[in-house]
Amino acid sequence: MNETTERGSVRLASMRLKDARYILIAGALAIAAFAASGAIGWLSGALLYLIIALAAALPRRSRSMRLAARQKAPAMDWRQAIALPLQAMDEPAYLLRVDGTVKFQNEAAEALFGVSEPNTHLSGRIRSPAILGMVQQAMEDDEPRSVDHSERVPSERWFQVRCAPIAGAPARDHGGKLYLLTFRDMTEARRMDRMRSDFVANASHELRTPLASLTGFIETIKGPAKNDRDAQARFLDIMYEQATRMTRLVDDLMSLSRLEMKTHVAPTDRVDLNRLVAHVTDSMKPLAAEMGVTVALTVPDERVVIQGDRDELIQVLQNLIENACKYGQSGGRVDVAVDVLPTDEGYGSAELRVRDYGPGIAPEHVPRLTERFYRVDIESSRSKRGTGLGLAIVKHILTRHRTRLVVQSTLGEGTTFIVRFERQKTPNDVVLRLIDKEKQGLRVS
Ligand code: ADP
Repeated sequence: MNETTERGSVRLASMRLKDARYILIAGALAIAAFAASGAIGWLSGALLYLIIALAAALPRRSRSMRLAARQKAPAMDWRQAIALPLQAMDEPAYLLRVDGTVKFQNEAAEALFGVSEPNTHLSGRIRSPAILGMVQQAMEDDEPRSVDHSERVPSERWFQVRCAPIAGAPARDHGGKLYLLTFRDMTEARRMDRMRSDFVANASHELRTPLASLTGFIETIKGPAKNDRDAQARFLDIMYEQATRMTRLVDDLMSLSRLEMKTHVAPTDRVDLNRLVAHVTDSMKPLAAEMGVTVALTVPDERVVIQGDRDELIQVLQNLIENACKYGQSGGRVDVAVDVLPTDEGYGSAELRVRDYGPGIAPEHVPRLTERFYRVDIESSRSKRGTGLGLAIVKHILTRHRTRLVVQSTLGEGTTFIVRFERQKTPNDVVLRLIDKEKQGLRVS
C-alpha cells in the first residue's frame, strides 16, 4: 500500500467513526456505568470499548444500503441485455435455441418474414433449405457459418445470412446454447457491382465497334484497295469519323469519372444564369442552323444568380440543346428559357427549360434516360454522333449542384427538360433590402 492510499484509508476509518459517534457515546456511557457499579472491571471495560470502536471503523454495507442500491439500478436480465440491441438493429435478427426454436425475433425480422409464434421452429417462417442447412451446420460444429440468400417479394433483395453461437450465455434453456442468426442487406452492394460490370461491358462494346471498323478498313487499304485511290479516300473519311467517335466516347467517359470523384462536393462559385444561358445559346446557333433548327431564348429582366460551376453548367446546357436539336430536329424549333419562381424562403428559385417540338419520348423510356448508354433508339443515336452518355453527365453535374433533371414529354408534341436552381443573393437584393429597412424607419448602418 503506498502513502496516498494509506492516508485515504485512515480518513475513511475516521469518517466511519464520526458516523457512528452516537453509538460510541452510548457504548462509552453504558460501559462506564457497568464499571462504576462493579459489574465489570475498568480494564475489561476499556478493552470492550476498544473492540466496539474498532468494529465501527471497519468498512460495512448494510442490507438496507444494498437494497437501496439495487432499487436505484435494477440489474438487467441477460435476455434483455441481448434482446435490446437486437431490437435496435435495422437488419433482421433471430436468437435461436440449439433445437432450432426461436427465442427472440427483432422487429426487422418480423417485418421481413412475419411474426414467429413463441417457441416454434425457425422453419415455420424461413423455408429456404440453404439457410436452414447452414443454421444446422453452425449448431453441429458450434462455429459461425454464413450463406447468401435472395428474397424476391416485395422487391428483389440480397442478404448475407450468418449464424454464430453466443459464447457465455447462461445455459438454462433446452440444452443451454443460444445462436444469433443475422441478415445483412447486400442489395445495394450487389446493385453497384452489377452496374460497374455492365458499365465496363458497355464501354468496351462501344469502343470495340469503331475499332473493328478501323481495323477492317486498314486491312482493305493494305490489301484489295491497295491501288484504288478513290476507295482509299472514301475509307479514310469513314476512318476519321470512327476515330472521332472513339475520341468523343473517351472524352465523355473521362468527364463522367471526373464528376464521380467530386459528386459530394457542392460547387461554391456564383454564376449569372441569364448571361450563361445567352452565351451557350449563341454558341449553339450555328450547329442548330446546320440541322435546320432555330433556337429562341427568353430570360427575365432581373438578374438571376445561382451557386454553381460555370463550366459544368455550360456542359449541361450544351448537352440539352444539342439533344433537342438532334432528336427534335423535325420540330424545326427549340425554346430555351429562364423563369423566376418566387418562394417564401430565401431568394426564390429559377427554372431553366429546354423545349423541343420533335416526336417526344414514350413514358416507359423517360425514367431510364439518364442511365449510362441508355438510348431510345441506338441507331438513331449513333447516326447523330451520340455516345449515350450525354444525359448521364447532365445528371451527375446536377446531383453535384444539389438539383435534378425533370423530363416532360408528350408523344407527337415534343419534350421539355427542366432544371430548378435555388437563387442566391444579388448586389441588387442587398440594395433593395436596405431601401426596405429605411422605409420602415430603421436606421441602416
Ligand atoms: P446520346 O449521346 O445518345 O444523345 P444522351 O444521354 O444524351 O445520349 O441521350 C440518351 C437518349 O435519350 C438518346 O439516345 C435519345 O434516345 C433520348 N433523348 C435525349 N434527348 C431527347 C430529346 N430531346 N428528344 C427525344 N429523345 C431524346
